[in-house]
Amino acid sequence: MLRLAVQKSGRLSEKSLEFLEECGIHFQRNKSKLKTQATNFPLEILFLRDDDIPRYVAKGVADVGIVGENVLREKQQAVEVCEKMGFSRCRLSIAVPQSMEYTSASDLNGLKIATSYPNLLEEFLKKEGVKAEIHEISGSVEIAPSIGLAEAVCDLVSSGGTLLSNGLKEVEIILRSEAVLVNKPDLSVEKQEILDQLQFRIKSVMRAQSYKYILMNVPNSAIDQVSELLPGMKSPTVMPLAEEGWSSIHTVVKEDDFWEIIENLRQAGAEGILVTSIEKMIL
Ligand code: ATP
Ligand code: ZN
Repeated sequence: MLRLAVQKSGRLSEKSLEFLEECGIHFQRNKSKLKTQATNFPLEILFLRDDDIPRYVAKGVADVGIVGENVLREKQQAVEVCEKMGFSRCRLSIAVPQSMEYTSASDLNGLKIATSYPNLLEEFLKKEGVKAEIHEISGSVEIAPSIGLAEAVCDLVSSGGTLLSNGLKEVEIILRSEAVLVNKPDLSVEKQEILDQLQFRIKSVMRAQSYKYILMNVPNSAIDQVSELLPGMKSPTVMPLAEEGWSSIHTVVKEDDFWEIIENLRQAGAEGILVTSIEKMIL
């Protein structure tokens, strides 16, 4: 049995549980419970505050955990990152009032900066040779300047909308973060085997998320040209259509490449192009 810690409630919790379900792991969801057990995989899930996850994994209360890199780096605990999970991307940034002139980190000298990430902020200020006062607060950091608690903030940003509506602008990115799976070093052989299986499933889900399955109708005379445009995993599948002189081509492409090639496919004569998501991709 492997014990996995996930955030009890917050921005990571729903996505972490959804990801596990996409890995084919079923469990009962009961918000009020502190733990639950998967019904078809040797996994127990513990629900904790995200701030506690690195420490609990380091101490072995849980064997693995899903947590943001921002929290992981701030807490400085002895755990290993075994998988980046690709969701809850955000950045830890310094923001100042929009009216402030800002050219470089030295403009932060002498300011009071509010944050929930004192260690990461201190590290950054040290690296830049800036002397500023760190004011640690646990929530609603973005309102600190408007109530006179600080002159700048160091906080998580995704779209930047919250900063904007609080009259702030992002001026320095300290850390880029996403959800990661962490593990206690030196797991037992039995637990490591379960973790390997879990990682295999996570990789298959992540691979599937970054690829699309595409199908299109192509006149037979254009099959070679279209095939060359497709950066597929292997050569594409070509099947004759009932209509004389036409074929259906199927392949898998990286989503990033997709928009680049779609126009070329149309020009080469492809019609009725369908794009669908892939649920799992096993290599
Ligand atoms: P807890 O009560 O568990 O301590 P919290 O209030 O500290 O929760 P949340 O706001 O739920 O934390 O955020 C959890 C994590 O989600 C963050 O540590 C970060 O990794 C990620 N995150 C935070 N803000 C954003 C955002 N705007 N976009 C995407 N991911 C984010
Ligand atoms: Zn937290």
